[in-house]
Amino acid sequence: MMSVEDRYKTDAAFHSLVDYMVSMIERCRFTPTEIREAAMLAAIISDRRNIRPRRCMGCDAVITDVGLYYVTVMGHDYCSQCVTPAGLSR
Ligand SMILES: [Zn+2]
Repeated sequence: MMSVEDRYKTDAAFHSLVDYMVSMIERCRFTPTEIREAAMLAAIISDRRNIRPRRCMGCDAVITDVGLYYVTVMGHDYCSQCVTPAGLSR
């Protein structure tokens, strides 16, 4: 698997995305932590829009239940109660 640094060097779209995020930090618009949280939230929002039946690795809830959505962490699915933008809650 290509490292993120290699992808930065070879993928123009990814390069632009990273440079934009760096510029937001350097222009003091957002802290590095806020950029990290925004990226995690973007992943959560896009995952929430792709409804599939899944079970949470943390609590075994059916993630398609009302009010729950999933996020994939290290290849495993977790519900919105087990994962926050800051990471796994347990
Ligand atoms: Zn859960």
